[in-house]
Amino acid sequence: MEKQRIVVAPGDGIGPEITSAVLRILEAAGAPLEYDHIEIGQSVYAQGITSGVPTDAWAAIRRSGCLLKGPVTTPLGKGFKSVNVTIRKTLNLFANIRPCKAYSPSVASAHPGMNLVIVRENEEDLYAGIEHRQTPEVTQILKLITRPGTENIIRYAFEYARAYNRRKVTCMTKDNIMKLTDGLFHQVFEEVAAEYPEIASDHQIIDIGAARLAANPEIFDVIVTLNLYGDVLSDIAAQLAGSVGFASSSNIGHDCAMFEAVHGSAPDIAGKGVANPSGLLVAATQMLVHLGHGSVAETIKNAWLCTLEDGIHTADIYREQLSTQKVGTAGFTDAVIERLGRKPRQLEAVQYENKPIKIARRPTPPTVKELVGVDVFLDWDEDGRDPNVLGPRLAAAAIEGVELTLITNRGVKVYPDGIPETFCTDHWRCRFKSSGAPLAYTDVVRLLHSITEHGFEVIKTENLYTFDGQQGFSMGQGE
Ligand code: NAD
Repeated sequence: MEKQRIVVAPGDGIGPEITSAVLRILEAAGAPLEYDHIEIGQSVYAQGITSGVPTDAWAAIRRSGCLLKGPVTTPLGKGFKSVNVTIRKTLNLFANIRPCKAYSPSVASAHPGMNLVIVRENEEDLYAGIEHRQTPEVTQILKLITRPGTENIIRYAFEYARAYNRRKVTCMTKDNIMKLTDGLFHQVFEEVAAEYPEIASDHQIIDIGAARLAANPEIFDVIVTLNLYGDVLSDIAAQLAGSVGFASSSNIGHDCAMFEAVHGSAPDIAGKGVANPSGLLVAATQMLVHLGHGSVAETIKNAWLCTLEDGIHTADIYREQLSTQKVGTAGFTDAVIERLGRKPRQLEAVQYENKPIKIARRPTPPTVKELVGVDVFLDWDEDGRDPNVLGPRLAAAAIEGVELTLITNRGVKVYPDGIPETFCTDHWRCRFKSSGAPLAYTDVVRLLHSITEHGFEVIKTENLYTFDGQQGFSMGQGE
């Protein structure tokens, strides 16, 4: 079989030790792979490359489309970018897949029946990192949710369920509050779920869903969610499985993919030969399935399960009652290699079919978009911050055909008909709407000019659109 070239970045801390252990097992199992080794992280930061990834490394990753990555120490201090986030976003690795399974009774877990997968959107949401300080009192971040990004991740979750014979996909959002952003994610979930009638689906509000996950992880199969929720949920789930050291993650894009352990570079044990290589090894088996080498992945994973079952454990999972032998990285690696070709007796053996998951990019359907108003945000700290003073003064600044309909503070309606108990900061959202026909953007410019002439400080605006006649903006609380 022709060998496939992949890129290996050992990283730092325990990275080089666990990477060479994993490569030794891949070699012994006959994985049809060849490797380009690249450096990322600490040694690269030291050369003054603040992204932590040198230019020739990008070329190698793009050529091969596949990166096996050891953990990287994130330098303290400003000016350095996280290698992980940079790689994910630069290569459009939109799906983060984290299986969380208990290996009970061989490894202690409070939830022996737990076997779930978290499919986390990996690029959007608050992680777009668009933040501003707008007034002396107020900072903001933009939460961006796109239809193509959402379709990609949700389709990936269903395709994953299909490929790995999973029965149910649960979507978690907070769309009872964030009706447009999380609402889009939920809506696309319903649309895509209908294309997979053989897979059960449900939606849970993230807070109650997370509580259920913490109490009863056994009831979940595949969970698909937005970036921030997925970040939090996947750490909780890995911890619940009882084996953060085993947790692995794949970061999948249309053209490239990256596979890594969930844990960090563990500087406290680096160089001591005691690190558990399991997280990166399980990531490597995910990589083999992704590359279409399911049978090699199966051989390795089953040998690894046998090793756990035989009680041959590294210090992080060693328990006197469950373990038979405490080994270091090399001893554990030898034990896995000795067991290649064997199947576990007590733990469930794995079986992988070669069903690579491909998600097609789909165009967004055309819509009729009309400008019907504008939210004008002001920094205003006069007259005791009384909205009943601000309202009439601002209404007088409106241009013909446009009227002030609402003022909110921190999203709560304070004018007209606010109540004095509502706390007001120096940051005001003032909603102007067309009283008749749709507006042109030049109308907004004239309005802003007039508001400025009336002595107000505009800090930003958001256009109010309808799409096919549907309102593309939320109401104020109390509106
Ligand atoms: P860590 O995961 O490196 O270590 C936490 C604890 O778990 C330590 O006690 C460590 O000894 C232990 N541990 C971790 N992996 C182990 C293994 N394979 N075998 C045995 N014990 C293991 O977390 P941290 O100390 O918070 O982070 C260290 C550095 O790693 C930081 O710079 C952090 O930013 C970075 N980090 C990188 C990644 C990544 O590259 N994907 C992920 C998380 C953290």
